[in-house]
Amino acid sequence: MSQDCIFCKIISGEIPSKKIFENDHVLAFEDSNPVAPVHALIVPKKHYTDILEISSSEEGRADLCHLMAALTQISEELGVDERGFRLINNCGEEGGQTVLHVHFHLIGGKKLGAGLI
Ligand code: AMP
Ligand code: ZN
Repeated sequence: MSQDCIFCKIISGEIPSKKIFENDHVLAFEDSNPVAPVHALIVPKKHYTDILEISSSEEGRADLCHLMAALTQISEELGVDERGFRLINNCGEEGGQTVLHVHFHLIGGKKLGAGLI
């Protein structure tokens, strides 16, 4: 738990969220400012700043696997498992990361554009 981290506070229940999926390692909840009909955030329960930090330890890599392993259930819950979706990670300032607790955006529910930027 990082004291000033908004996602740690969501994980602890201090800040409310619309939960989609939860297990011992992973929480998925609705983004409060959705950019598409389906917009969820998938986070590890343990605090890591970004994708580089979570990738840099055995424990972090195990948590990354837990995130990916939860994708099937999360996408089913959101109704996009057969339609398709986009999974995005923003890393660092130029990557557009604003919340410094690593997370993946799961976006879908409509035909998304082909461009990446
Ligand atoms: P990023 O810019 O990749 O760091 O994404 C941060 C995301 O967190 C943005 O899409 C915000 O809309 C979302 N967000 C920030 N605060 C909350 C919150 N309290 N509940 C849900 N989503 C949030
Ligand atoms: Zn955190």
